[in-house]
Amino acid sequence: MSKIKEIIWMVKPKTTFNYISKCSKCNRKMDFYNSKKFRINANQKLVDVWLIYRCTECDTTWNIPIYDRVSPKKINPEIYKRLLANDEELAWEYSFNKDVIRNNSIQVNYENIEFDLVGEHLTEEDIINNEYDMINIYIKSQYLFDIKVLNVLKVGCDFISRSMLSRLIENGIVSGITLKEKIKDNQCITVVCNKYRNLKLKEKENLV
Ligand SMILES: [Zn+2]
Repeated sequence: MSKIKEIIWMVKPKTTFNYISKCSKCNRKMDFYNSKKFRINANQKLVDVWLIYRCTECDTTWNIPIYDRVSPKKINPEIYKRLLANDEELAWEYSFNKDVIRNNSIQVNYENIEFDLVGEHLTEEDIINNEYDMINIYIKSQYLFDIKVLNVLKVGCDFISRSMLSRLIENGIVSGITLKEKIKDNQCITVVCNKYRNLKLKEKENLV
């Protein structure tokens, strides 16, 4: 039976996503940041709710629709209270909400986000010198959170580059992911340590 080590990486974004849109004042495509404030308009017993984004350059507002002409009775009372109170955590949740992003055809700046990766980070030495056949890395995140697998791996295994990951996937050393894909919550990346050791041996032989 193969010996498997299991690791959990928690991805914790330090900020919310910037959204990209043309700013009417800057007159070009700009990054907009989450102001963490909501705007609520009540009109004939129906409400509109927006999450307010602002241009990173000139602070021009861009209202992202959250609720469109709905009866307040249809909104969960607890949520409605939090909307009225500009609840910051709720503003975070909407910012990562895939329905909000998809329904409004929002272009998200995935590159600009900074995050902490909580969990055991791996060095090349950890992968070569251990008693395991493989290492399973589970990625978890508090938010529905799209970020390139490469960017997460670069932090968790800082010796891995784009070209190296490409080679590792090709050789079946890393599996469960593709190069361009974005991490899904609870995704499992498998690193086959034996194959990695062999690859390193071969590289050494070629050098000799
Ligand atoms: Zn602007």
